[in-house]
Amino acid sequence: MATEKSAVFIIFGGSGDLAHRKLYPALYNLYKTGDLKEHFAVIGTARRPWSDDYYRGTVVDSLKDIDDDEKAMEEFSKHFFYQSHDVTDSDHYIALKKLASKLDDQFQTGHNRVYYMAIAPRFFGTVAEHINSEGLKTDGFNRLVIEKPFGRSFDSACELNSSLTKTFSESEIYRMDHYLGKFMVQQLTRIRLKNRTFEKSLNNKYVSNVQVTLAESLGVEDRGGYYETAGVLRDMVQNHIMQIIGAVAMDEPAKLDSESIHEVKRDVFASLKDLKPEEVDKNFVRGQYGEDDTGSLKAYRDEDNVDPKSNIETFVAGKMMLDNDRWSGVPFYVRSGKRMPAKSSRIDIVYNDAVKELGINPNTTVTFLIEPENGSSILVNGVDYQEGNQDFLKFPEDPKYFSQEREAYENLMIDILDGNKIHFTLWDELQNAWKYVDVIRQQWDNETPDFPNYMSNTMGPDAASELLEKDGNSWIWDD
Ligand code: NAD
Repeated sequence: MATEKSAVFIIFGGSGDLAHRKLYPALYNLYKTGDLKEHFAVIGTARRPWSDDYYRGTVVDSLKDIDDDEKAMEEFSKHFFYQSHDVTDSDHYIALKKLASKLDDQFQTGHNRVYYMAIAPRFFGTVAEHINSEGLKTDGFNRLVIEKPFGRSFDSACELNSSLTKTFSESEIYRMDHYLGKFMVQQLTRIRLKNRTFEKSLNNKYVSNVQVTLAESLGVEDRGGYYETAGVLRDMVQNHIMQIIGAVAMDEPAKLDSESIHEVKRDVFASLKDLKPEEVDKNFVRGQYGEDDTGSLKAYRDEDNVDPKSNIETFVAGKMMLDNDRWSGVPFYVRSGKRMPAKSSRIDIVYNDAVKELGINPNTTVTFLIEPENGSSILVNGVDYQEGNQDFLKFPEDPKYFSQEREAYENLMIDILDGNKIHFTLWDELQNAWKYVDVIRQQWDNETPDFPNYMSNTMGPDAASELLEKDGNSWIWDD
């Protein structure tokens, strides 16, 4: 049974892509489940001079693909209000404050506020500072949600964090990593705690290597401009891949609460084995896609808003090590790329022979399929774990739970409203992730790659396979 939650959401960037594709559908689904009912309102802000009615029309439009219940969409949209806003104009924050207070009273939201940054990262600091200087914070809860990217490097992340913490405490800041909202990533900890043998197997005595793959079949599409400033290292490794490694490698938490989980996760990030600049090329491979073999897919350098000589990477594979008792000696191979043969996010845990002493077949691989499969599953040596009848691995939930699976943004919205930070990135985790990634970035920025070096619709450059072969290993997912 859903418990109704109350808040005024202020969505900075209410006319943007993220708001329409992710935030409004997520809020609507929470409305349909009763997590949001009467006591909420949403203020969308953007530069354009829209009326409330026009804005509501765009909100309803964003729901057309997920529902045809026009009455419910209409009722839902009555909770939406528009405020035209330029991030640097103080008067606009004063108008926003007045509107938010009015809606607090009208919808009886308990003065709770969610400030959602769905705008360009360069505005995050400015908006937070104005929330402070124009006194928008209230005596209810005040939660600031920050989208990625959180900085472009360790230094810029520190700068951003100090500008945010002038207004919001660490406990009020929710750094989004939507992979942490995905069903299978969220289940991983519960599965570990529920299956004692599996939990006992997760260490360097039994695991030969761990592989994390976040593969996309699409290219950069219309986001070439953004991608030119990011590259896959910043876009996927620094955040999503690091967080997934945290979930696999952390020690057993004392409890299933935010504090206990972050305590053990923090240790994983702190034990990332330092990479020296001269070790980068031995341990990390980068790539950029060319055309496919028919010439029907464009090379990255021919995409819109991309420099025809761009050295931005669209593929990365690497080997990361952890320096702690549990995992030392076990490679964590990571890989992410665009224009790979299929969309697939997965974790493969590859066991060695010793695992037979736990009653698990030698050389077993356990795979967590994160997406695109809905209601994702676990494979044991490529076979659904239920069909293979695996004693050491059971799901904590009734299988019916799968059909009620929520989308990542819905899970995370509920967490924000509940004040639950389990699935958000904390500042100390982020710092260590940036320090690690900065070494690779700086080394790569000093060298000129030979791009493009993989064809679209392939598994990336050959060097990505060689990286594992030289350790006597191979990628489990290999088209
Ligand atoms: P977008 O360009 O589609 O939307 C940006 C919004 O900001 C628009 O509503 C625009 O009106 C508003 N805006 C721009 N300049 C402004 C100003 N000076 N004052 C006030 N408002 C202004 O961008 P998006 O794709 O929705 O991304 C928003 C944020 O979410 C970015 O930080 C992005 O990195 C992050 N993000 C987006 C996605 C996605 O799938 N789109 C995924 C992950 C993270």
